[in-house]
This record gives sequence, C-alpha cells and structure tokens, in this order.
Amino acid sequence: DTLLRAADAAMHAAKEAGRNTYQYYSQDALAGIQRRLQIEHALHGALEREEFQLVYQPLVNVDPSRPPAIEALLRWVCPELGPCSPAEFIPVAEKCGEIARIGEWVLDEACRQAAVWQAAGLAFERIAVNVSAMQLRERGFAEQVIAICERHRWPPQRLELELTESALILDSDALRQCFDTFERNGVLLAVDDFGTGFSNLHYLNRFPVQRLKIDRSFVQEMLTDAGTAEVTQAIVHLGHALGMLVVAEGVETRQEEALLLRQGCDEIQGYLYSRPLPSRDMAQWLRQCGGDSRNPPQPLQADRPAVAL
Ligand code: C2E
Ligand code: CA
Ligand code: CA
Repeated sequence: DTLLRAADAAMHAAKEAGRNTYQYYSQDALAGIQRRLQIEHALHGALEREEFQLVYQPLVNVDPSRPPAIEALLRWVCPELGPCSPAEFIPVAEKCGEIARIGEWVLDEACRQAAVWQAAGLAFERIAVNVSAMQLRERGFAEQVIAICERHRWPPQRLELELTESALILDSDALRQCFDTFERNGVLLAVDDFGTGFSNLHYLNRFPVQRLKIDRSFVQEMLTDAGTAEVTQAIVHLGHALGMLVVAEGVETRQEEALLLRQGCDEIQGYLYSRPLPSRDMAQWLRQCGGDSRNPPQPLQADRPAVAL
C-alpha cells in the first residue's frame, strides 16, 4: 500500500512537471501534493460560504497632487486550513477550474467597492484587479468584464486588469478579440511581475498595454546589487519608449523610493505607504492622506515604520 501511494505521488509530481517526464518519490513532494488536494477540496463551495474577501493597496503617483490608484488583492480564510495565501491557492484554483467563478467574484466585488468609494467622495484614480491567464481564455471574458462595469456603473476606463506575461504570450484570435473589446471600452491593461517571465517582448507591441509593473524581486535587490538597479532603470526606459507608464511594487523603504524616483518611475506601491487593507481601513487611508499620499497617515502602518530620509 505504501509503495503504491509513493508511486502515485511520483506520478502526480511528473504530471505537475508538465508530463512526459519522470519524478522520484520524496516525502516533501508527497506533503506538497496532499496540501494541494486539501486546498482543492476546501475551495469547492468556498465562494458560496463567503470565505473570500478583498483587501486593497494603494499605488501612489509620484506626482503628489494626483490621487492614488488601488489594487484589489484576494484573501481566503478557510475554516479548516486557516488563512491561505493567494500565491498558494490561485494556482490550485486555476488547475481545478474554480478560478473562473472566483475571478468573476473578485471583479464584481472590486467594481462594487470602487463605486461605493466613488459615491462617498473618496479620491482615487482607478481600481486594479489581478486576472489569471485562465480567465482571459474563457469565452466571453471581455464581455463579462464590461457587463460587471455596467452593473455597478463603474467606468471601464477606471478599471485596470493586471495580467502576467504568461497570459499575454499566447497569441490567438480569441485573445485578440478580447483585447479589442477592452480597447474599445477603454479598459486599462498592466503587465504584472514584469521581467520575471519571458524575454520575448513582442507581445508589448501587439496588445494595448498601458503599464508595466516592475516585479518586487527587482526592487528587493536594487539597493544591494548594481546590476539589478540597471535592470529597473532599463525597464523604466523601455516602458517610456513604448509610451507606457511604469509602476514599482514591493517598495518598503524611503531609500528604494528615492532611487525609483530618480529612475523616473511613475507610480510606487508597497508597505512603505500601506499594507493591503480591508475596505474600511482603505477608505480611512484615502480620507486621511488627502492630497499627499506619499506621506500617508501613520497609524495604519504602525507595524512597519517608514525610514525617514
Ligand atoms: P501580485 O499581484 O504581484 O501582488 C503583490 C503581492 O505583494 C501581494 O501579495 C502584496 O500583498 C505583496 N506586497 C505588496 N507590497 C509589498 C511590500 O512592500 N513588500 C512585500 N514583501 N510584499 C508586498 P498577496 O496579496 O499575497 O498576493 C500574491 C499574489 O497572488 C499576487 O501577486 C497575485 O499574483 C495573486 N493574486 C492576489 N489576488 C488575486 C486575484 O484576485 N486574482 C488572481 N488571479 N491573482 C491574485
Ligand atoms: Ca498585481
Ligand atoms: Ca508581483
């Protein structure tokens, strides 16, 4: 029985490694597979049980007179497994097909919340939502996005979809039609985690992308590794040369902020300004920072004080 289970685990690992290969059984791999199966099981019905929530993080414009944008990030507290990170459960949801419904809920909830904040007179530029490559391939996805905007009377020009490079690399007629619909309606597109995926940059010209988001891993190493700072500078130049805006994510210190400002970054996001916050705290943050989001109120981020210049 043990031997068969081990063989089964190795087969699973081989399938996950892209099939057509072999894998040895290991205790770690088995634990990983069991964890993924638990998550898959717990994901079923999680939407109906209202286990998901959105938190929000500002993307601060380098021009202090411009209001910030807001990114919606998904949170899941599973009754059996406890809080589970999207980095862990989104890939499982993609594999078992749940992502389509979860992603639709995220879009709906983010637009609903944005419209509520707007009606309350809070100043922010746009709402950004992460979209998985799988959602983009769903038939009728673009129409679904527009319908959600209409439902909440949220202008599509103030909705941004954050896509990863892997979502953009597959060129197909369906994808092209999807992007045509976005372009016609003014839905904004950003490339998330830019620089970590493919080195083939053709897609940047093919699709109507307005923003590049420099991946957090570059920002983390930028101050200690001169080569990495060159990369972030090159991404800023590349984005600007293509008529795009450039955002840096994962900015935690004033030193990182200073370097990114010197490099010409357009927007900055990270714990420096605010951690992702529940909707109520986000509203308070927006209210309190008034016209100066680069120097936000202190209490909400007291767990990580910014280093003063
Ligand atoms: P992402 O889109 O690149 O989001 C940035 C992640 O970095 C978030 O993690 C955020 O909480 C974290 N972060 C922000 N500022 C800082 C900082 O200054 N320092 C550090 N160390 N981290 C920072 P989170 O919320 O755990 O999300 C992880 C990933 O899960 C996201 O990466 C995104 O790819 C995915 N994700 C989150 N929500 C959704 C969703 O609604 N749909 C889809 N498809 N993916 C989502
Ligand atoms: Ca993102
Ligand atoms: Ca990222």
